[in-house]
Amino acid sequence: MDIKKMFYGEYGGQFVPETLIPALDELDHAFENAIKNENFIEKFNSLLRNYAGRPTPIYFAERFSRKYGLKLYLKREDLLHTGAHKINNTIGQGLLTSFMGKKRIIAETGAGQHGVATATVAALLGLECIIYMGKLDAKRQEPNVKRMKILGAEVVEVENGSMTLKDAMNEALRDWVKNVKNTHYIIGSTAGPYPFPKIVAYFQSVIGKEARDFFDKNCILPDYVIACVGGGSNAMGIFQGFLDTNVRLIGVEAGGKSNKIGEHAMTLNLGKKGILHGSLSYLLCDDDGQVAPVHSISAGLDYPGVGPQHAYFKDSGKIKYDFVRDNDALQGFFELSRLEGIIPALESSHAIGYVIKNQELFKDKVVLLNLSGRGDKDMKIIEKKI
Ligand SMILES: *Cc1c(COP(=O)(O)O)cnc(C)c1O
Repeated sequence: MDIKKMFYGEYGGQFVPETLIPALDELDHAFENAIKNENFIEKFNSLLRNYAGRPTPIYFAERFSRKYGLKLYLKREDLLHTGAHKINNTIGQGLLTSFMGKKRIIAETGAGQHGVATATVAALLGLECIIYMGKLDAKRQEPNVKRMKILGAEVVEVENGSMTLKDAMNEALRDWVKNVKNTHYIIGSTAGPYPFPKIVAYFQSVIGKEARDFFDKNCILPDYVIACVGGGSNAMGIFQGFLDTNVRLIGVEAGGKSNKIGEHAMTLNLGKKGILHGSLSYLLCDDDGQVAPVHSISAGLDYPGVGPQHAYFKDSGKIKYDFVRDNDALQGFFELSRLEGIIPALESSHAIGYVIKNQELFKDKVVLLNLSGRGDKDMKIIEKKI
């Protein structure tokens, strides 16, 4: 493979055990063939439309806009089947699994959202599905564990290490090495070794395409496009529709409680260059160089790494990365609920909180915000704040 193609500037690459390189090569080859294959693309588009519920609307949030003095448009990924953008990617990679002639998929999940989206697609396509989840996470996210089981997936609770996401990831990698012949590993964000960041960005690019079409039809462009950033998939999804313009792009990270190690998930704002989950990007580590514990009020942003494309766009200055704290996200959550009748996911609430916090900057501007998911899943956390 052409080494240069595996990198975004200096970021990305394949920092994995030798035994996985053939599997990554096979995957890249299959992906490049699949996206040139009419049947594959037709099937993908048809499932996005008839199963997931695309295209999603772009909604002008009138009462919110009036109160905060801007023109706010929401890209409604929260209306998709299973309640977030993650299904775009799992449908794509699920189809890719069948395209490669494989019958078994594995995934790891922290909050359980990616696990549910994967189990959903496994049921849809008749694939065997194993989800790895840290035992502690499985306990914290009990309703999602139940959903995965209802959908027919086997949930393996990992009891190694801290019993959370990174241990589940190690276990999933071990499984993949052993069963690579009949198994595809569905990574849930624009992270992981090449070609995963490219594949996930591609399957999520439909968000940005639909949004750009909407603005093109109305012969305007937004002044700003804003999205929350965990691993970076929903943000890459929408930003890709505007990379060829001068529209200002802002990714909002989880500022958690403070700038102290362990109290936030601001990988791009406070991280250093390093290798995590098979690729070189920014990551959060402690003073000894160990991967740092992270915190966010939203489980989906609780990740110490970030996709390599974002690291590249941060350095180049094309995209600005900022943050808001847990409390700002909570304010965003309640304001959108009460002004628009839309209960957003706590992840997406970070982007809303950012608009409120920076209302001077956005005065009279047209702002497009990616509403990556709905908030039903967050009731347990919100219960204590009502
Ligand atoms: C998982 C998730 C995110 C964070 O993941 P990205 O890959 O950064 O998009 C954001 N919003 C929602 C609703 C999610 O479920």
